[in-house]
Amino acid sequence: MHRPALTLLAAGLLLATGATGGASAASAAGRDTTIPASAVKTAEQLRDRALHDDTAYRITASLTTEVGPRMAGSPADQRARDWAVAKFKALGFDKVYTEPVTYPLWERHGEHAEIVAPFPQPLSVLALGYSPGTPKGGLAAEVVRFDSLDALKAADPAAVKGKIVYVDARMERAKDGHGYGLGSAIRVAGPVIAAAKGAAAYLLRSAGTDADSRTPHTGVTGFRDPAKAIPAAALSNPDADQLTRALGYGKPVTVKLALDCGVVGEYTGANVIGEITGRRHPDQVVAIGGHLDSWDPGTGAIDDGAGVAIAMAAAKLIHDLPQRPDRTIRVIAFANEEMGLWGGRAYADRHAGEVAKFQLGTESDFGAGKVWRLSASVKPSARGAIGQIAQVLEPLGVAYDTQRPGGGGSDLSQLHGKGMAALSLTQDGTKYFDWHHTANDTLDKIDPAELAQNVAVYAAFSYMAAQADGDFGSAPGAFKDDHAED
Ligand SMILES: [Zn+2]
Repeated sequence: MHRPALTLLAAGLLLATGATGGASAASAAGRDTTIPASAVKTAEQLRDRALHDDTAYRITASLTTEVGPRMAGSPADQRARDWAVAKFKALGFDKVYTEPVTYPLWERHGEHAEIVAPFPQPLSVLALGYSPGTPKGGLAAEVVRFDSLDALKAADPAAVKGKIVYVDARMERAKDGHGYGLGSAIRVAGPVIAAAKGAAAYLLRSAGTDADSRTPHTGVTGFRDPAKAIPAAALSNPDADQLTRALGYGKPVTVKLALDCGVVGEYTGANVIGEITGRRHPDQVVAIGGHLDSWDPGTGAIDDGAGVAIAMAAAKLIHDLPQRPDRTIRVIAFANEEMGLWGGRAYADRHAGEVAKFQLGTESDFGAGKVWRLSASVKPSARGAIGQIAQVLEPLGVAYDTQRPGGGGSDLSQLHGKGMAALSLTQDGTKYFDWHHTANDTLDKIDPAELAQNVAVYAAFSYMAAQADGDFGSAPGAFKDDHAED
């Protein structure tokens, strides 16, 4: 940590804002950040109200029905942004605006895979984000199987050259979703490693925990240089079982892969932002949100319609209080999270210079299961305030892990990286990876009561952060030694 520099910087910022309110001036004198008792009481009321409020469910139903799948840069991208602007306005947000985000435009037009020999039959696959297409008519090559990413890394390029690399590792199911760390590495890094060794194409067993559905899980690859990319696709788990069985006969297995997809240019979308404007410190911001884009096979209910809806509904509950909160509640519906945090990175770059104005932030992007754990990256003198937040969340089944850092969620991890104080509100992801990035990511997977529990958590914490007497330590570079998983 860079304590001396941080302290000087924080003191300077507090002095600069001290004139506008007694609360900040008091903190500058070295007092701990605290949440006034009246704000705790209101947060408890917000929490209890949220449990009987179906706004988030209705928002998720609206987005997934009226827009449906909304892959970044697709024709539905603009419809999703129009939807978000209209929804923020309909909910009564004080300020609604967009900020542009530019990224490479990748399009999917179709995919086909089949075992050519020795047992001809089709396989269910989905192309991965940033995969190039195959030559028209497809490519056929012998499959070489690896049971882990490490085995691929260690492989002699001579064993891989000209072949279809197949990484066959089953993702582990876990409440905290930690199996996705390895699963996503096989999808993101695997194709790049295979390409560097001269492979013709890449297949993986989907990074998903379902075993009984022929639904492949798509997702982005790590390809950044189109000249070095190879066609890459995910097999559903039953299709991976089938390919592995075929390989088990000990004869060469040839697969034909025909992918019609690729990068076709550049696209400028936008982050869509709605605010409940703070009464005393409108320029100080509690940042929450989700991402507006989704993968195309499903309707993006759990990933991430739910996240957008949780944040919108939480802010709406605060909006409906008799008076505005002290600080601004900002809800950000991020552009193109799925292809590599494009919206989050653009947001962090644009707002890095004002990171100290971000009171506290976190994003919901792990489905609609209940929040069960709270952790935080804040300055030591704000730990007590996090403890107060934890007490209000405790009846919802949320445990405060005082040892873990907070990461800010997917897109907001980028602003946390620039110095924003951040929470992690970990959801129950036991079932999340059964449906994640598949055709089965649809509204029926959401339990309205569990979704409402999330809103209760977000409404209560956001309000308490907005009313806090003092800040949580946001400053340029403040948390760069924290290493959160999200
Ligand atoms: Zn997501």
